[in-house]
Amino acid sequence: LLQLSVPLNFIGMLYREIRQGLTDIEQMFELLNVEPEVRDAPNAKPLEIGKGAITFENVQFAYDPARPILKGISFTVPEGKTVAVVGPSGAGKSTISRLLYRFYDVQGGAIRIDGQDVREVTQNSLRAVIGMVPQDTVLFNDTIAYNIRYGRPGASDAEIEAAAEIAQIDRSIRDLPQGYNTMVGERGLKLSGGEKQRVAIARTVLKAPPILILDEATSALDTTTEQEIQAALDIVSKNRTTLVIAHRLSTVIGADEIIVLRAGEIAERGTHAELLAQNGLYASMWNRQREATQAEEHLRQVRESD
Ligand code: ADP
Ligand code: MG
Repeated sequence: LLQLSVPLNFIGMLYREIRQGLTDIEQMFELLNVEPEVRDAPNAKPLEIGKGAITFENVQFAYDPARPILKGISFTVPEGKTVAVVGPSGAGKSTISRLLYRFYDVQGGAIRIDGQDVREVTQNSLRAVIGMVPQDTVLFNDTIAYNIRYGRPGASDAEIEAAAEIAQIDRSIRDLPQGYNTMVGERGLKLSGGEKQRVAIARTVLKAPPILILDEATSALDTTTEQEIQAALDIVSKNRTTLVIAHRLSTVIGADEIIVLRAGEIAERGTHAELLAQNGLYASMWNRQREATQAEEHLRQVRESD
């Protein structure tokens, strides 16, 4: 099962994690599946982080050579700003976040952080400056406190609770019979998609990284939960360089730039107001989502009045 292409430093990382009891065997294989053959360059240096400006320069990528996913993508997230990537499912949005985190290497072009190519810096130093709130958070089979503390292993209980408060999950944790010591994960309490995402947000609040990647959860969240999570994310992303992968356009209205991705190419770009004025793909996505939200609201009101 273990392929020879798995880099030694990755095995080393896994070994350390397993030794620390962070992962179990299933999770190890899960990690092996998501983490491919990326390795540190022989002369890799630690990333020198300034304010965390991100540049994608003509980035090209394919999982399978026969099927290009990103066909030359260029954009900049200036330091402290927020850029949102939106577009139909399968357009390549999450792939952009995976490339920035360097789960995979680009096949053409380059990704730079503060001018440094991510392929030329150590993975540890790269990942230390990025906080990722993924679409699907995998929880460790451990306590909820442990799962939040993972963001910064030295954090105190008080710091964990403060982070949970910002992520708006503190109250639901306190309502559990064992509170922060409740076991979660596959063999513990199963959390909903929204709750898992809030655990990931709390982790990221604790980590307090200069760069944030938010890959928003999709349909699983109702409008209220989404608004609560959005409020938490707004606090976390303030003054941080933030790349948002957005499924619901209501969450990107305030972004400094919105990039509309379609079939691996940038179809449109601009602010919310500029894109609406263009009356193109973004505008039609916006109108469709607004109608869907109104229908959802209407249904809810009908149900409540029954
Ligand atoms: P989005 O986030 O915009 O919905 P993704 O970036 O996740 O899209 O995926 C873009 C395309 O790449 C999709 O067609 C998806 O099926 C494909 N894809 C994603 N991950 C992999 C993978 N690990 N191996 C092969 N194809 C993949
Ligand atoms: Mg996605």
